Amino acid sequence: MKSCLVVDDSKVIRKVARHILETLAFDVREAADGREALTSCLDCPPDVVLLDWNMPVMSGMDFLRALRETDLAVKPKVVFCTTENGMAYIRAAIEAGADEYVMKPFDRETLESKLQIVGMA
Ligand SMILES: [Mg+2]
Repeated sequence: MKSCLVVDDSKVIRKVARHILETLAFDVREAADGREALTSCLDCPPDVVLLDWNMPVMSGMDFLRALRETDLAVKPKVVFCTTENGMAYIRAAIEAGADEYVMKPFDRETLESKLQIVGMA
């Protein structure tokens, strides 16, 4: 079973994402900000991270930079999840280490196709 860490400060988004991912047979964990997510990744790295951009404590971008600097042998794939649809945001996220991105609100088909692109579904 593949594991996914859902990182978002919105409990509603985490719940929606969890539901979709569980129907795709993922083992799901949640984190409410980048700091929690980093701790979770160091504790037990998931196969893939679904990552929000705007969060308190530590943003998605700061999480990406911090994850890149860890010495995890296998880094999780990261699907960056955003309402910011400007190419500049997307490019910055990819440069910081995101593997793919998905626009909110996402549905099952969209999320599944993005997970397939990163080799996770
Ligand atoms: Mg947010």
